[in-house]
Amino acid sequence: MPRPFELSDPKRARQLADVIASLAPSTPVKIVHVCGTHEMAITQHGLRRFLPKNVEILEGPGCPVCVTPTADIDAAVQIAEAGAILCTFGDMTRVPGTRLTLEQARSKGCDIRVVLSAAEASNIAKETDRAVVFFAVGFETTTPMTAAVLVNEPPANFSVLVSHKKIPEAMAVLLSMPGTNIHGYLAPGHVSTILGMAPYAKQLDLFKIPIVIGGFEPLDILYAIALILRQLRNGQGFVENGFPRGVADEGNITAQRLIARVFESTDVQWRGIGVIPDSGYRLREEFARFDARLRFHIEGKTGDERIPGCRCADVLTARATPADCPLFRARCTPLSPVGPCMVGSEGACSIWYRYGGRELP
Ligand code: SF4
Repeated sequence: MPRPFELSDPKRARQLADVIASLAPSTPVKIVHVCGTHEMAITQHGLRRFLPKNVEILEGPGCPVCVTPTADIDAAVQIAEAGAILCTFGDMTRVPGTRLTLEQARSKGCDIRVVLSAAEASNIAKETDRAVVFFAVGFETTTPMTAAVLVNEPPANFSVLVSHKKIPEAMAVLLSMPGTNIHGYLAPGHVSTILGMAPYAKQLDLFKIPIVIGGFEPLDILYAIALILRQLRNGQGFVENGFPRGVADEGNITAQRLIARVFESTDVQWRGIGVIPDSGYRLREEFARFDARLRFHIEGKTGDERIPGCRCADVLTARATPADCPLFRARCTPLSPVGPCMVGSEGACSIWYRYGGRELP
């Protein structure tokens, strides 16, 4: 008999479920995570079934594709319509803009290419005289990769449409929004490998709720939930590293320095949330020559984000589950998505559609 993988061993999972049950308070507890990879692991492994009925775990603004505002999609379409080669991640091509998605722009003759990294876009620029723009989305895991390309002198015809965002700032804003009612956060392991613990403490200490960094294997997640419940039971609320095999408390200093060298903080719009102060990045003066917004005279007008019937804004702020949306599985499916949460592979609606969400089909 092959031994089960240590970190998804059902026997150990049951033991952790017992610990969770013993720590769970009698009143309802809502834990929010901000990571599509966490949601994927939770739904794929049916981890909600291990939780007591009064302990709920929901995805917040954890899908970078989903939180990219319409204005940025519109900017990418404008750049592509101006004749540039627009490079981006695959999911981004189907996110609704005010007029068009990038996929629709491509069907009208624009040169939109799917890449896996900023480095791949930079390599495309080396092989052409045309303008090449990388549409840079993502949280702290992808921001250093964009920065690494820019410090290595990419070709002059290369530029970046920056739409990177910071997770701890959004976590703090969610706590102040009406109806979110969050008792604890499961913080993303991969973002935390870059950030370490300090940025969570800086943004969230004020709120005195448990913030536990968790890994992505089933036992990592159950362990982190147990730590959150233990803090709640003890009346505590602090940042705790529940994933020490992947996250150093101080984070990745080299990556942090790289980000700080290339970018500075700025207020940015999050779809479904609005403008969050200092929650995104713009290029520093030294790298402004690679700023696609300057090259293509992007004015940054806020796009229209209303999608009739779509509850993405509530899903992205953990105030609703995908199943609370009347369009879920009916008019809205991954093949025919209505809102961004069904487009992005890390979006809660897409994941619940594919893996069953709270209740398995
Ligand atoms: S199921 Fe579709 S329409 Fe409903 S919230 Fe999700 S993305 Fe929006």
